Amino acid sequence: MSIYDSLHKAFGPRHWWPGETPFEVAIGAILTQNTAWTNVEKAINRLKEHNLLTAEHIRDIDTNLLAEMIRSSGYYNQKAKKLKAFIDFLFSRYEGSMEKMAETEMWALRHELLQINGIGMETADSIILYACYKPIFVVDAYTRRFLIRHNLIKEDNPSDISYTHIQKLFMNNLPPDITIYNEYHALIVQLGKELCSKRDPDCSPCPLINLLTLS
Ligand code: SF4
Repeated sequence: MSIYDSLHKAFGPRHWWPGETPFEVAIGAILTQNTAWTNVEKAINRLKEHNLLTAEHIRDIDTNLLAEMIRSSGYYNQKAKKLKAFIDFLFSRYEGSMEKMAETEMWALRHELLQINGIGMETADSIILYACYKPIFVVDAYTRRFLIRHNLIKEDNPSDISYTHIQKLFMNNLPPDITIYNEYHALIVQLGKELCSKRDPDCSPCPLINLLTLS
């Protein structure tokens, strides 16, 4: 919580996830794999302009045409298939309803989402937290990076740097509070983008510098 408090004080609330509806959030979580959010925004706006951002429309549109619509998000052929796979699941299991999907118990839903082709742990957890409002912690490369730099996990220990271990590290040390989980992940992304970059971390203005001297 002290890391959270320091980041929150420095960066303020992040107002995540950018999306008007749970469905839009889920689509964004799939499209943002391996690309910058600005590219996802363009793809989502294009879908909106063509009135395609509904489960029914994405189910019914030709996969090649869908790929064309989301071209700006990169890997668009693969991502069109992933979107279709998610929508197939949503209809076969929940009649196309995000609300019905969100009624499922959190870990059971996670298990279901991970069976879908193209949905990994980070995407599944983003959908569960930001579209279904359940308290699960989302782990990404920024999270792993700052934990390694602060000696909270060991880079050379595969089990230490695993997604599941890092997720437990947070969830075992935080209250199961959706607002905190929501903000925490968003704050870590801000930290990674603004200060804790891959090559050249800018530690002197960083709110976590005291933690660095302790570690
Ligand atoms: S103090 Fe440095 S290493 Fe630690 S999170 Fe900030 S920028 Fe990264």
